[in-house]
Amino acid sequence: MAGTEEQSRHNEIFEKLEFRGTKRFKEAPKECNCCGCTDIVGIELIGAKKGVLYWECSRCQEKYLRYTKVTTIKYLKIASELWIDLGGLENICEELPN
Ligand SMILES: [Zn+2]
Repeated sequence: MAGTEEQSRHNEIFEKLEFRGTKRFKEAPKECNCCGCTDIVGIELIGAKKGVLYWECSRCQEKYLRYTKVTTIKYLKIASELWIDLGGLENICEELPN
């Protein structure tokens, strides 16, 4: 059953990023489907992969896949350890006395 747990964890990471649909974009989409903004930027995850992993609208943060969901999730899982570290730092900041 470990495989099932692993899969659900992948999906959890994926859901947090709120990708919609499975359409893939080799290049940044010309226009955001959500808000019509034409400023779509490539997102790189340091430690996970060199180059752009997915695209994101600079206005509404709508996200677009560059690779398949399976591939994207694989790299997100690698990056997730980095995010956990960052989350820990945030918590420390919140606990500092004013
Ligand atoms: Zn947008």
